[in-house]
Amino acid sequence: MLKLQRRLLLPQKVSPHLFDHKLQAFLVGRIWIAEKMPFHPDTITYHIHAHFIEQFQGITEKNSCRRCGSQNLQKFDCSQCKGSCSYCLDCIIMGRISRCTKLLRWVGPPIHIQLKSPIMTWQGTLTPSQKMVADEAVRHEKDHLIHAVTGAGKTEILFPISEDALLKNQRICVTTPRTDVVLELSPRFQKAFEKIQVQSYYGGSEFYKEYSPLIIATTHQLLRFEAAFDVIIVDEADAFPYTFDEKLRQAVKKAKKASGRTILVTATPTKLERTRFSQRKCYSFIARRFHGKDLPVPKFDSLWQYDRQFNQGIIPRKLRNWLIKCVSENKPFLVFFPSVKLMMVALPLIQKIEHSILAVHASDPNRKESVQALRDGKVCGLLTTTILERGITIFNLQVAVVGAENRIFDHAALIQISGRVGRSKDAPSGDLIFFHDGLTRQMDFAVSEIKRLNRL
Ligand SMILES: [Zn+2]
Ligand SMILES: [Zn+2]
Repeated sequence: MLKLQRRLLLPQKVSPHLFDHKLQAFLVGRIWIAEKMPFHPDTITYHIHAHFIEQFQGITEKNSCRRCGSQNLQKFDCSQCKGSCSYCLDCIIMGRISRCTKLLRWVGPPIHIQLKSPIMTWQGTLTPSQKMVADEAVRHEKDHLIHAVTGAGKTEILFPISEDALLKNQRICVTTPRTDVVLELSPRFQKAFEKIQVQSYYGGSEFYKEYSPLIIATTHQLLRFEAAFDVIIVDEADAFPYTFDEKLRQAVKKAKKASGRTILVTATPTKLERTRFSQRKCYSFIARRFHGKDLPVPKFDSLWQYDRQFNQGIIPRKLRNWLIKCVSENKPFLVFFPSVKLMMVALPLIQKIEHSILAVHASDPNRKESVQALRDGKVCGLLTTTILERGITIFNLQVAVVGAENRIFDHAALIQISGRVGRSKDAPSGDLIFFHDGLTRQMDFAVSEIKRLNRL
């Protein structure tokens, strides 16, 4: 470092090879606020001067945020630039970007890490259809859509795809809109690729200074990256809020290298996506679960005026009977609720049946532990919002939806929820009940789609 600082005084002698490799490893593919860099300011100044790092304003001349692209700016009196300034409201959660904020990105030499085969430590075997789809996605080398029914074992399909990219010295990101899915995927990927450090990023996650060729991140965290990845796998591509949020779509595009490609993986693609990708012959489909059994078909059961009953301190009779059955048969269960509010009204009532039952929702800091407790058999069941509609696998799980007619349960959500049941070879079926206060087209559509997939 002394050497570097001496160079700082003699900028005319800057060498294209003399840069801090730790700084390179940290910044390559990232976009970072200068004052939050975990390196000495002199080191950074040297690298800017030597054109290893590019520095630019946080807000562009066209008044958009350089990190997230938003134009949703707020004016304020800035203590930094001592005047009227503005900052981006949309990505403030990752640290404020204002007009006078300096952002940095690496423009020096790229990183070359040649990983040696075998790189994959996963010992499992793929079913013939899993293997076919993985081969198609590897061979195709362009944007690709993998449509895999719930329980098809799509994570396993991603292992050989990732292995192929790593052996080509490419950088990969597996991204998903949901933190829960990141938490579920990260340990599985780390186990499948033990020789490398798999980094995971989500709101409030650990902060890595090292370079990793394999990253698991929420779509939102991708805003911290730019032209970083050769392959971005978007898992659960249709999960809220990805379908609705154009900005997160942009984040994927920005985090990808210009030469990079995107692989979308989902159990519930839209018709438009399916048509678009199959026309370009970049669509792969797995119609069967990995164990070969049918997808469970939901049963409808009326639960008239359930919210009024809960608010009067009563568990609707049919739901009550179902819960008692699950508890007495010692079968783990999930009950999906349309809102946190109703769920919290129902929780103390349901806990009278069995006190260990817990509730989880998006802003619950203990939800990871609660899901683990269900997995470990320490609690017999959880009440949940749609937060657990996907990315969760629990042996012999029984599922009920309360208020399946609610708008929040669109057909994709209902198909995903149904997909939680019967995922194991040793327990390929289970209870799946949609309790409702009136039927909807979304419910009918979910059932007809599941039946259609079972016929394929
Ligand atoms: Zn922003
Ligand atoms: Zn300012």
